[in-house]
Amino acid sequence: MQALHRTMATDVSFLPSFLMLSGSHIELSASALKKNIQYLQRRIGIATRLVSVIKGNAYGHGIEAFLPLAEQCGMRSFAVSDATEAERAYRVKRAPSDLMIMSMIDNDDLPWAIERGISFYVFDEDRLQAAITAAARVGRTARIHIEVETGFNRTGFKEAQVDHVIDRCLQHRDALRVDGVCTHFAGAESIANYYRNMEQSAIFGRIRDQVLRRGLQVGAFHAASSAAALTYPHTTLDMVRSGIAMYGFWPSKETRIHNMLSRETHFTRDPLHQVLTWKSRIMSLNHIAAGQHVGYGTSYLTAGPTKAAVIPVGYYHGYSRNLGNLGEVLIRNRKAPVMGMVNMNMILVNVTAIPGA
Ligand SMILES: *Cc1c(COP(=O)(O)O)cnc(C)c1O
Repeated sequence: MQALHRTMATDVSFLPSFLMLSGSHIELSASALKKNIQYLQRRIGIATRLVSVIKGNAYGHGIEAFLPLAEQCGMRSFAVSDATEAERAYRVKRAPSDLMIMSMIDNDDLPWAIERGISFYVFDEDRLQAAITAAARVGRTARIHIEVETGFNRTGFKEAQVDHVIDRCLQHRDALRVDGVCTHFAGAESIANYYRNMEQSAIFGRIRDQVLRRGLQVGAFHAASSAAALTYPHTTLDMVRSGIAMYGFWPSKETRIHNMLSRETHFTRDPLHQVLTWKSRIMSLNHIAAGQHVGYGTSYLTAGPTKAAVIPVGYYHGYSRNLGNLGEVLIRNRKAPVMGMVNMNMILVNVTAIPGA
């Protein structure tokens, strides 16, 4: 299988563990994840399947670390973006867990996915034909999700093509098992997209009726991501694909405020909990006199005698350069602001007000 030999140059999860631990490490919280899953499942109802979206290296949490943790917390369905991620997930998942590829897989790799029972999106005629051909070659049924276009205008069959797609699926019942018919909302985390999203929902409803009317067996109709599920309950249907909320973040401030203030979903203590914590140590402490510039250039000038802590994390490790004079780290549960620019391998933070740092 070709995907076996492809790894992303930017992916640090393949480094030996001692390299990852020398300056900082990431911790994942099982209890936070469990709470998020329970909250989401309660919100969408137990009859609706919750799928854990682990694309983008599980949103930076690491596929190999996150997936087994999510399984421990009861998750049984996972969605990745491409075949390379699917291969990584397949290697660490338990046998009963489902895997779905939402976008990129080369036609040459389809037999690989079909043999392993990995489902994939079919969004155009070429992919549909390739799925049928590959299934025949492997001698197994391909598990597919038919993606339909409802206004996002990225990938998916247009509404006018749906009848033909249904014909093909009915003709090739031995080759194709339709696990899902799906679409994706164009930004459900913002009320600015309300009319566009509701139009999408209406179109998807029409397509759903059409598919049901034609008698095509479909495992699940699914459209909602975190934001749609948490904002528009009628979009949850049979299955919800959740990424960001499961990791403990609201899709946007709007989504959080909408939920916090709505009568049915009102909360005072945030029901979502961050799964990821990035931890490092103070490498060195430095006392700086008043009126001194700190670090490269002149962007930070001490107002008084200042105690600075040096943290061995920089933009090379993923601490954004944009956080110079803006970011904060937690030391002894107090916020320590970044002083000056983020260096490639270090930041300086102000710990003047943190005794015992
Ligand atoms: C990323 C993605 C999701 C999950 O979105 P969140 O906002 O993180 O919940 C769902 N569906 C598709 C097609 C995606 O690409």
